[in-house]
Amino acid sequence: NLKPVNVKLVLLGEAAVGKSSLVLRFVNNDFQENKEPTIGAAFLTQKCRLEDKVIKFEIWDTAGQERFHSLAPMYYRNAQAAVVVYDVTKAASLDKAKSWVKELQRQANPNIVIALAGNKIDLVQPAEESEEDPAENGREGGRQVPTEEAKAYALEAGLLFFETSAKNGDGVRDIFVEIAKKIPLE
Ligand code: GDP
Ligand code: MG
Repeated sequence: NLKPVNVKLVLLGEAAVGKSSLVLRFVNNDFQENKEPTIGAAFLTQKCRLEDKVIKFEIWDTAGQERFHSLAPMYYRNAQAAVVVYDVTKAASLDKAKSWVKELQRQANPNIVIALAGNKIDLVQPAEESEEDPAENGREGGRQVPTEEAKAYALEAGLLFFETSAKNGDGVRDIFVEIAKKIPLE
C-alpha cells in the first residue's frame, strides 16, 4: 500500500530493434513474431514493486524511423529514465544507440537514468534447451556486437547495461527493476 511514484520513461533506438516488443513483454508478458512498426509513439503504463517503493512507469515507446526523429525531444524532454535499444545481430544499431545516448546527455534532464539494452540475444544463444538450430533461424551472421564491447561503452558513458530477449523474456524485467532502484524517492 505504498503510493506509487510516477516515472516517465522513453524508449529510443533504431527501427525494428525490438523497442515495442520489450514493452509488450514487460507490460503484458507477451511477444508477437511480426510486430507492426510503431507510428509516432505509443503510451503504456506498468507498475513495478520494489521492497521500499512502488514505481509506476509511464512509458513512451517511440518510432525508430528517421522521419520521426524530430518528435523525439517531446518524449525525452521530461523523462526521468530512458531505455536505448540496439539489436545484438546488427552492429549499425549500436552506432544509432550511441547517437541517441549523446543526444540524451546533451538535451535531456541531466539526472536522467539511461539503460542500454542489447536485444534479440535469443538469436545468438546456443540452442541448449530447444530443438532449434541457431544456424537455421533464418538470420545470417549471428552476433555482430560482442557483449564486452557494448558493456565497456556503457560503463564509459555511465549507462546501465543489459542484454535481453523480448522473445523469451530474458533480462527484460531487470531493465525496469534496475532503473526503478536508481530513481530517488523525491
Ligand atoms: P521496434 O521497431 O524497435 O519497436 O521493434 P519491434 O518491437 O516492432 O520488433 C521488430 C521485429 O523484431 C518484430 O518482428 C519482432 O517480433 C522482432 N523482435 C523483437 N524483439 C525480438 C527478440 O528479442 N528476439 C527476436 N528473435 N525477435 C524480436
Ligand atoms: Mg516500435
